[in-house]
Amino acid sequence: MPLYLPHFNLQNYNTLASPVCAAFFTSIKDEDELHAAIKFAKEKELPLLVLGGGSNIVLHEDFPGLVLHIQLMGRELVRADKDFYYVKAAAGESWSSFVDYCLDEGFYGLENLSLIPGSVGAAPIQNIGAYGVELKDVFSELTALDVKTGLSITFTPESCQFGYRDSVFKNEMLDRFVITSVTFKLEKQPNLKLQYPALQAALADYGPQEITPELVSEVVCEIRRSKLPDPKQIPNVGSFFKNPIVSAKKLTELQKNYPDIVSYPVDSRHVKLAAGWLIDRAGWKGRELDAAVHAQQALVLTNPHRLKAAVVLGLAAAIKEAILQKFGVVLEQEPRNYP
Ligand code: FAD
Ligand code: NAP
Repeated sequence: MPLYLPHFNLQNYNTLASPVCAAFFTSIKDEDELHAAIKFAKEKELPLLVLGGGSNIVLHEDFPGLVLHIQLMGRELVRADKDFYYVKAAAGESWSSFVDYCLDEGFYGLENLSLIPGSVGAAPIQNIGAYGVELKDVFSELTALDVKTGLSITFTPESCQFGYRDSVFKNEMLDRFVITSVTFKLEKQPNLKLQYPALQAALADYGPQEITPELVSEVVCEIRRSKLPDPKQIPNVGSFFKNPIVSAKKLTELQKNYPDIVSYPVDSRHVKLAAGWLIDRAGWKGRELDAAVHAQQALVLTNPHRLKAAVVLGLAAAIKEAILQKFGVVLEQEPRNYP
């Protein structure tokens, strides 16, 4: 029987360190506890917040419902075929520790995704990505509990509808499922993805024989530590905005005034702009009000004084408006607001 803690302070459970309270909080260590907690919330008509590491949420006010802190643990090699290992991890496992475990075991493909904070269960929600690899590239299937029916469902890659920092769980199936485990399809032989410019630059002095998955992971960790604030020191939720996708025509217009604008092709008619570049060029990099724009990476907003995350939303709104006025580009927030 899970314990329901009332008026629970969430400051240590979100990496923005927002000092807000949940009406109730409970830890979920097995599926029976999950069923019981969902029943409790239904009986009391409480909204649910499924919480992993709290590294992609903005808790700007008290949450008037039940927080389910997912602590389901376990990982196992479930099968192998000629080229791949299929490795299953429970939703509460730390993503970063799971990547390290896979490298140690010789299950390859996660190295570019090293050191991303948070849990395994949250990784499919926004199809986490970094340094040219996304979760969808290594995904086999996931299991999730349907909050409405209480049934456990398996999702294939197709049914997850993965997109750029997006999935079905942020759209049609928003708040409908609690992910309980994820199975990955990992390579038996290293198949390195080294096209990302920052990675190429960092590996330029190594010979091809020297570049191993372990080295790629180390280099990714080094780059990340040099650019990104550690949430334990400076509270943040990583990139606050997605990189906007615009038409190639819009890029041509922007290039007239900003010939050095940073963009990457998406398809024959669309490009992705670097939101960090737009924010920097609009003069916001390093600015500090109650919240701040990180000096090494303008896409990261921080909460150095550990205030309510409403101050970060205020800064984000001012930046969005400035980018719209200056470039005519709409920025979309990446982390989700609660309540
Ligand atoms: P939470 O913040 O706890 O939850 C995020 C969302 O997922 C919420 O809506 C929550 O309800 C839902 N959720 C969580 N667990 C479950 C579950 N089991 N079932 C159903 N729903 C669930 N992201 C990237 O993509 N790439 C990066 O490189 C990256 N770098 C980051 C660097 C820093 C310093 C920080 C702070 C964040 C970074 N992020 C990055 C964002 C974040 O780490 C990821 O989105 C991560 O997957 C969030 O995991 P979490 O467990 O903390 O999720
Ligand atoms: P960066 O290397 O400074 O590059 C800036 C942006 O340009 C990135 O956001 C990246 O988009 C894009 N980009 C660079 N090279 C690209 C290429 N060859 N093809 C397509 N797009 C390219 O980025 P960074 O801030 O240091 O982050 C490094 C990686 O970690 C990125 O993949 C980033 O997404 C990820 N990251 C994510 C978060 C988060 O919270 N979501 C936080 C920190 C880092 P993409 O974002 O699409 O890769």
